[in-house]
Amino acid sequence: MAVDLHIHTTVSDGADTPEEIVQKALAIGLEAIAISDHDSMSGVCPARAAARGTGLEVLPGVEMNSYYESKEIHLLGYLIDPLNEQFAVKLQQLQLDRLQRAAKIIDKLAALDLRIDLERVLEIAGGGSVGRPHIAEAMVEAGIVPNREAAFQKYIGSLGPAYVPRTRITPVEAVSLIKAAGGVPVLAHPGVSGCSEIIPELQAAGLMGLEVYHTNHKPLMVDYYLKIARDYHLIVTGGSDYHGAGHGSCNQLGRATVSYQAVEQLKSRAGNRKFLN
Ligand code: AMP
Ligand code: ZN
Ligand code: FE
Ligand code: FE
Repeated sequence: MAVDLHIHTTVSDGADTPEEIVQKALAIGLEAIAISDHDSMSGVCPARAAARGTGLEVLPGVEMNSYYESKEIHLLGYLIDPLNEQFAVKLQQLQLDRLQRAAKIIDKLAALDLRIDLERVLEIAGGGSVGRPHIAEAMVEAGIVPNREAAFQKYIGSLGPAYVPRTRITPVEAVSLIKAAGGVPVLAHPGVSGCSEIIPELQAAGLMGLEVYHTNHKPLMVDYYLKIARDYHLIVTGGSDYHGAGHGSCNQLGRATVSYQAVEQLKSRAGNRKFLN
């Protein structure tokens, strides 16, 4: 039986609500899923509530974005208690930073004579973690670009004139924050980030897993990262990075999965003992 450990919901930039994710996971017969929104755990409790009594296990997760030199490195944190106060405060800081950054991006667009409303962007974000995909959607609505891809390519992608990075936490800081909250830190989609050189340093800082299976990992990459996981004693995880319809290639729940053994291994390493069954 398969598990999908990388899923986004409307709480960040996914298209489906936590409840819809649970319905879809049941429909395709997944055994367990992890909700892993960007800088937020607000989707975890609603998904767990929706899955109660169904046989589907929902693990708490989060995806934290960090920076190493000019690269974006994403860290997945599993089995953190969404009610952990210290961690929740940290996530709130990161969300406030996202809000301030969205306002800065909108100012930069205005300087290019391209006008969108912050209020509309927040409405699209639906009260969760606001991100560039929400800004891209507002730009499509305003007729500035034909589609979201074009918004990233022309304006808000990392090389675009209206790009603003988020507050720079380092990958080591993200690993430490996840560990301090009793979670299990896993390096997300290394083949997408192109960051294998930092794995030794992250492992020394407490990294426990590697997302070997991912929608955008080709078979050769999988082989390469399986070997690295073995060499550094990292748990092999995987997930689709599902964002829902209209989000490029990550639009199929369960497209990348691993066996339930990965869940058992994550549980065996979690400092927080609340979600073990
Ligand atoms: P943010 O967290 O605000 O920096 O936005 C990052 C998200 O934007 C990613 O998780 C993707 O979903 C999306 N994204 C990043 N680059 C692109 C791109 N070139 N085209 C479309 N979506 C993108
Ligand atoms: Zn996303
Ligand atoms: Fe990611
Ligand atoms: Fe993701």
